Amino acid sequence: MADINIIKDKCVGCKICVGVCPFGAIEVIEKRAEITDRCTLCGACYKSCKFNAIDFKRDERESSDLSEYKGIWVFAEQRYGKLKTVSLELLGKAKELSSMLNTKVSSVLLGHNIESLAHELLAYGADEVLVMDEDWLNDFNDQIYGEAMTALISEYKPEIVLVGATSKGRSLAPYISSSLKTGLTADCTGLNIDEEKLLVQTRPAFGGNLMAEIVCPNNRPQMATVRPKVFKPLEPDYERKGKITKIHREPIGGFVKLIRNIDNSDGLSLSDAEIIVSVGRGVGSAKNIQLAKELADALGGVLGSSRPVVDMGWMPYSRQVGQTGKTVAPKVYIACGISGAIQHLAGLADIETIIAINQDPDAPIFKVANYGIVGDVKEILPVLIKRIKGRL
Ligand SMILES: Cc1cc2nc3c(=O)[nH]c(=O)nc-3n(C[C@H](O)[C@H](O)[C@H](O)COP(=O)(O)OP(=O)(O)OC[C@H]3O[C@@H](n4cnc5c(N)ncnc54)[C@H](O)[C@@H]3O)c2cc1C
Repeated sequence: MADINIIKDKCVGCKICVGVCPFGAIEVIEKRAEITDRCTLCGACYKSCKFNAIDFKRDERESSDLSEYKGIWVFAEQRYGKLKTVSLELLGKAKELSSMLNTKVSSVLLGHNIESLAHELLAYGADEVLVMDEDWLNDFNDQIYGEAMTALISEYKPEIVLVGATSKGRSLAPYISSSLKTGLTADCTGLNIDEEKLLVQTRPAFGGNLMAEIVCPNNRPQMATVRPKVFKPLEPDYERKGKITKIHREPIGGFVKLIRNIDNSDGLSLSDAEIIVSVGRGVGSAKNIQLAKELADALGGVLGSSRPVVDMGWMPYSRQVGQTGKTVAPKVYIACGISGAIQHLAGLADIETIIAINQDPDAPIFKVANYGIVGDVKEILPVLIKRIKGRL
């Protein structure tokens, strides 16, 4: 076990460590810090002490176990034999991180009849692809995939595992991290390596009001999920060589039986769209959304929305942009009757042009917009539709 003690002669009762402890486990009594039984031995406090008054020892066995973990893994999510772009985006980021750790990037590809995708993963930056092509992996099942990944991670010991924050990734990653009793940071917006060679996982916290930097110093692998469009994929290089390792395992059974797949996609996905016309509460009614749809159709784009519009049942959740919806990166984003709350803006990544239509000239959306139209959406949209259709 690790151990922590306050060196009484050195402690001056400055309380810096009290503010740093994430568990409220340090109290200052009579100008001396005391560690309470809420301490989880995370070690967050000892570095903050300017007086070297905190003696923290990691378990030797623990540290040597950690050093056995090497390499970065990216879970290669595929559906019907097509790779999800988020996996390719993660490979690009993993490649950057791997140069800071002087290690290699491996991608893990599970499924059936998917072997040919391994070359695409090499082209997008993987040094090695571990392929498990089995008929019992044909359909995604978080328990079966989770057990398969857990077994592979226990065997190969990667130090970092990255998973796309898709609906599948969001159920798979926690399954793995809880099985392996390691940490997982969901929906990261940034990944970096610190001076101690730990993965620094940045994500919004407290409703997007601050950015938290999270590390996982005592457990392996360090795990993170990242939403689509947060990172850019590398330019693919199909000449790139790498290792493809085929792995065979006995079938793993699960409690859940898949009866049939239902395709509930409603047209071009928000993540892939180049033009998005997005509606906010300011559109006033479900009926008025037709105007935005007409504009989207005229431009060859798709509809998006803010959260209240989804909460009111005017649009399906699959169309929600923002912190609790999708991250989008179209070339053009037209925000109609959207105020520009921080949680909505959290879903706008790397957009070339934002056009905002809002009747309030002080609406925060105008601070991020490249072009702003102050006016009633119900009047502006028909004018835009007429102009655009007139040009076609
Ligand atoms: C934890 C958390 C997560 C969240 N996640 C998300 C998320 O993922 N996505 C998201 O969008 N929100 C999210 N929210 C909600 C967010 O805080 C805002 O409440 C929401 O984005 C506001 O949506 P809106 O701009 O459509 O509505 P409002 O804030 O009500 O703004 C409506 C705008 O329309 C304008 N307007 C009104 N009438 C007209 C008209 N006739 N013509 C033109 N303009 C008009 C108004 O001036 C106003 O600016 C989240 C909140 C929390 C706490």
